[in-house]
Amino acid sequence: MTQFNGRTKICYGEDAMAVLENISASRAFIVTDPFMVKTGFTDRIKSHLDRAGISHLVFDKVEPDPSLETIKKGTIDLLDQKADLVIALGGGSAIDAAKAIMYFGTKAVNDNKKPILVAIPTTSGTGSEVTAISVVTDKENEIKIPLLDELMIPDIAILDARFTRTVPANITAATGMDVLTHAVEAYTSRGANAFTNIYSEYAIKYVFKFLLRAYKNGDDMEARENMLLASCMAGMAFNNSGLGITHSIAHSLGGMYHIPHGKANSMMLPHVIGFNSFDVGEKYRLIAEMIGYRENSVEEGTKYLIKSIQKLNKEMGIPERISETGVDKNKFHKDLEMLSKHAVEDTCTKGNPRQPSKDDIKNILNSAY
Ligand SMILES: [Zn+2]
Repeated sequence: MTQFNGRTKICYGEDAMAVLENISASRAFIVTDPFMVKTGFTDRIKSHLDRAGISHLVFDKVEPDPSLETIKKGTIDLLDQKADLVIALGGGSAIDAAKAIMYFGTKAVNDNKKPILVAIPTTSGTGSEVTAISVVTDKENEIKIPLLDELMIPDIAILDARFTRTVPANITAATGMDVLTHAVEAYTSRGANAFTNIYSEYAIKYVFKFLLRAYKNGDDMEARENMLLASCMAGMAFNNSGLGITHSIAHSLGGMYHIPHGKANSMMLPHVIGFNSFDVGEKYRLIAEMIGYRENSVEEGTKYLIKSIQKLNKEMGIPERISETGVDKNKFHKDLEMLSKHAVEDTCTKGNPRQPSKDDIKNILNSAY
């Protein structure tokens, strides 16, 4: 059986925030980080809720890579507030935290009534506003715990590009390349289907059309809006299709050297395309065609795609090699065994079109160093 779950109601464009005034709820719990409170973004949410007569409590303790402790605190506050509406405002971390808090809160009460979950992303990257995934960090044991449950798919996603306007250029670049990686991996994944392909294709075209513009001029609202749509579309795709080993390796590099997720993906993607090209070369040729390649050669098309990604990286100041991120050569060689072990065991590996051995991952890592 092939399935596609597109449960989230997506609201975007002018006045999208007004949807908050039409939700039948009485008590809201807003999950966010201190920066959103400081910039006044949280106040915008509150004023809509006030207009609808919905009471609200702000939980602003979400840190980057939210910890189990934060999730626990948030769950206690959520239950105290007896909220029937959870609003996530922020980047991937705030949205992931809100999903986990809502999940544990619902399980604790055990009456099968879950609060309505609204996600408002303030970066164009994770697609978390439409996925069933949340990643929380066990800080004590230094491991990331991925949670996966359809209960966590947000009911409503509000895409308001004004929230992304102040995102700095380097974050715009890294998160934007994460969008591209989601779309390319979803398109070539073992779980890809007719529906996920449509979303991937849209996201790929839009990243190549708008990411550089958003990077060069953060006030280019047409570019910001379209990157936010691309991010959400890529999320719709990979939530249904799964990803691949670019993500497995990026998770591994992120855990070991704290290389930001989007940056790690953008460095690894060209190498993984090279590795997968024996199996899904025709798909890479099709992607190349989406971005301007006009010939029929699978080999040349794949090269065209790799070069286009490298060019985009370069134009946005993203390093080409792992060595440029400050990872020491000797340490890297010592860590290779562990890095490849983690990558092979990563949950994204099963979606990759070509199943890699530990040695394959080592080779890919070596060629990217
Ligand atoms: Zn990602």
